[in-house]
Amino acid sequence: LLRPDGTVAATIFAEMTDLARRTGAINLGQGAPDVDGPATVKHAAQRAIAEGHNQYPPGPGVLELRNAISDHQYRHYGLDADPDTEVLVTTGATEALAATILALAGPGDDVVTLEPFYDSYAASIALAGARHVTVPLVPGPHRFALDVDALRAAVTDRTRIILVNSPHNPTGTVLTLDELDAIASVARRHDALVVTDEVYEHLVYDDVEHVPIATLPGMRGRTLTISSAGKTFSFTGWKVGWLHGPAPLVTAVRTVKQFLTYASGAPFQPAIADALADDETPRALAHSLATRRDLLCSGLVEAGFQVVVPQGTYFVVADGAPLGFDDGVALCRELPDLAGVVGVPVAAFCTPGSATARALASRVRFTFVKREDVLRDAVGRLGRLG
Ligand code: PMP
Ligand code: GLN
Repeated sequence: LLRPDGTVAATIFAEMTDLARRTGAINLGQGAPDVDGPATVKHAAQRAIAEGHNQYPPGPGVLELRNAISDHQYRHYGLDADPDTEVLVTTGATEALAATILALAGPGDDVVTLEPFYDSYAASIALAGARHVTVPLVPGPHRFALDVDALRAAVTDRTRIILVNSPHNPTGTVLTLDELDAIASVARRHDALVVTDEVYEHLVYDDVEHVPIATLPGMRGRTLTISSAGKTFSFTGWKVGWLHGPAPLVTAVRTVKQFLTYASGAPFQPAIADALADDETPRALAHSLATRRDLLCSGLVEAGFQVVVPQGTYFVVADGAPLGFDDGVALCRELPDLAGVVGVPVAAFCTPGSATARALASRVRFTFVKREDVLRDAVGRLGRLG
């Protein structure tokens, strides 16, 4: 991350957002909604500020929010989490991931992730001094599928953590019960922990169901489940995340969190506690996103891209190869000039030079968490590519 000249490489999302700003292109790169979450939740945060929730909250999180997280997990998935010892509030899912990896993995340990993977995973694994091992998600006509043979080969007694992400960024895949079973079974066989990033848990489409891997037999005791209010309630800038799992693991993560941030933003926590009691907002968001997904996917296909329609998240991976664009990185650099749109190359979610990076070299991720008129405009612009 640190370049030889001492400058720091920007994340791909910062780089592409900057490119959109400089060129005036429509930013379908960074996954950030252009419509905020509910006004009632904003008012709850304003009220919390007015009522004096402005000093350090408890390190593990405000009890009201820990209770709401515990209720949410029980209500949706039948998962039990003791708010006192088994839940930790974090500064976004990003801190939950970093603190977890730093707490539980180190030199001599392997951390296995799916590939492509969210960019912070590789950075946190590197910071921990652990080795990053990847298992490909392989594109098919309908979804990206887990390469189960590669999973079995990748997980060994050196594996400390299997880091799962479902619904998956960037591919939009929701892991099937069979795929989750395969992960659970290798985790048990090699006594590995499972860390599962479920920030898109409510953003699934059609008849697809999100199953937390912690609900599988024998998994509760070895799984840390991570999520965030950013995606579910369209408050990405509030950076309210959390994790839950067995008390000894949560305590280990809490120990690291103490020295990363000590505590997370006080007035946002009661507001998100209120939000978590409301199942209608995420349901309505998923419903409207399904329409926006279809709009963007059909526009991309019309423009000549090949598309794997996502089952979840608010991203779609499109292949530029049928249009003659074999290099997604180059295409993303040129796209603002060619069409006035910004996307993110899937290669940015891969280990540089890996087989998966090569296999997905011509693919670009676009987000559809934008207003319909913005997506219509973008689709019209992309139509000029052919
Ligand atoms: N995991 C995944 C898969 C993500 O896409 C993101 C970005 N939203 C995060 C974690 C980070 O979430 P947060 O903004 O809550 O830190
Ligand atoms: N999670 C968002 C995405 O995948 C980006 C978050 C960020 O900018 N770090 O687009």
